[in-house]
Amino acid sequence: MDSPNIIVFTRDLRVRDNPAFEAAVSMPGPTVALFVFDELITDKKPTSSNRFQFLIDSLRDLDASLKKIGSQLIIRQGKWVNEIAKVVDETQSKQIHISNDFSLLAKTRLEALIKKGESIGFGVTVHSGVSLVEPGLLTPADGREYKVFTPYYRRWLETSWRKPVKTPESIQSIDLDGGHIEILEKYDQKNLSPFLLKGGETEGVSRLNDWMAREISDYEKGRDDIEGDRTSRLSPYLHFGCLSPLEVALQALEFGGDAFVRQLCWRDFYLQILHYRPDSSRKDYRDRKYEWNKDPEAFELWKEGKTGFPIVDAGMRQLLAEGFMHNRVRMIVASFLTKDLHLDWRIGAEHFMNYLVDGDIASNQLNWQWVAGTGTDSNPHRIFNPIRQSERFDTDGKYIRKWVPELKNILGNEIHDPDRKLRLEVSYPEAIVDHHEAIAIYKSKYSG
Ligand SMILES: Cc1cc2nc3c(=O)[nH]c(=O)nc-3n(C[C@H](O)[C@H](O)[C@H](O)COP(=O)(O)OP(=O)(O)OC[C@H]3O[C@@H](n4cnc5c(N)ncnc54)[C@H](O)[C@@H]3O)c2cc1C
Repeated sequence: MDSPNIIVFTRDLRVRDNPAFEAAVSMPGPTVALFVFDELITDKKPTSSNRFQFLIDSLRDLDASLKKIGSQLIIRQGKWVNEIAKVVDETQSKQIHISNDFSLLAKTRLEALIKKGESIGFGVTVHSGVSLVEPGLLTPADGREYKVFTPYYRRWLETSWRKPVKTPESIQSIDLDGGHIEILEKYDQKNLSPFLLKGGETEGVSRLNDWMAREISDYEKGRDDIEGDRTSRLSPYLHFGCLSPLEVALQALEFGGDAFVRQLCWRDFYLQILHYRPDSSRKDYRDRKYEWNKDPEAFELWKEGKTGFPIVDAGMRQLLAEGFMHNRVRMIVASFLTKDLHLDWRIGAEHFMNYLVDGDIASNQLNWQWVAGTGTDSNPHRIFNPIRQSERFDTDGKYIRKWVPELKNILGNEIHDPDRKLRLEVSYPEAIVDHHEAIAIYKSKYSG
């Protein structure tokens, strides 16, 4: 009998257009579908409960999909490489299939797995599937990462994308002792954001189809409409690979969704930066020699949504309640933290990672750096004026009223910056900083 092939799922938690999964199933011999909770991630404190629960939902959904085609998910926990090697030993497998990934942790453990395979006799085949265009495939003349988005985007559009792979219709499976789906019960999380999205491929595909039918044709106009809440919210499904970025892009293009596909390219753009500069998750991508302030009290007020800037507070409260924040509001609150308060982008990025259901090392850290001016933005001194932004993109104040209920009865334009008397009446705090003064200080120090 042919020896089994193992598909090690990581953040490619889907059966559709999953090249690693399809390759494992296409080989002669049975397939073992494996997921390992890596103790380096599960033991990390604090882990994001929101993201962990989304992962668990996604694993349950993957198991259900596998069962429909004659297989099931095997789940183990511990040292990632050792646990995989144990399953290789139990099943006498010779070959592992896995999706490529680009964070330092993902790369280090993949290298260790390949080495282990070389020493004990199994092969590891790495497939594309997390990004749409693999990092490293497109390089500028100096042979490393693209540092500027537009030239990368042009090349990304011109390059020929792989073809989606078929969804396997049946699997020859073998059973193993232990590690079946029931063990997930012990991982179910408490203290979740009350309005958290549900994870999984089934949920992702249904949201994708529904959203595309409603919004894609008007995406360019709708994406900045904070109060309309018209973006796709597909980011967590893309982060965990419940959706294939390739399939999402192809579907969008069918509907003329070029502006949406451009946003998907930002995801790949940041992945290729992280691939070449893994240290950019912690270090300034471009060192601007900023001397960050230290102000724990202001940082707490920012986290709690009590800065006295309605749009900033609405965003920070949405983050706590939903584990999500609208993209434009992410830029506004990040600019407020780094330019108005001049606090280090790393502490803001960490708070986001603790709550965001789509929290992603590449997209989060590098977007934070973009706003802070240490990243890839060609204009590092870009400032988001929280009041002007609010007037422009939450024109009627609907978003503010939803997330800052103290202000819900304030009518008209005042919602964006209520006067002192109104603030007192509804117990809403004074602004913790004068925006113009704060920006003048920032500019005098750094953009002279
Ligand atoms: C400070 C800050 C932190 C961020 N942290 C994250 C994060 O941890 N994870 C994350 O996925 N995105 C992050 N983003 C990018 C962006 O805000 C989210 O991808 C977007 O808000 C998700 O909502 P959506 O799916 O409705 O987006 P849509 O507008 O529907 O966009 C479709 C998809 O394109 C991708 N995309 C859109 N904008 C960006 C962008 N600027 N950078 C990278 N990819 C993008 C996402 O995969 C998104 O799902 C961050 C942005 C900022 C300014």
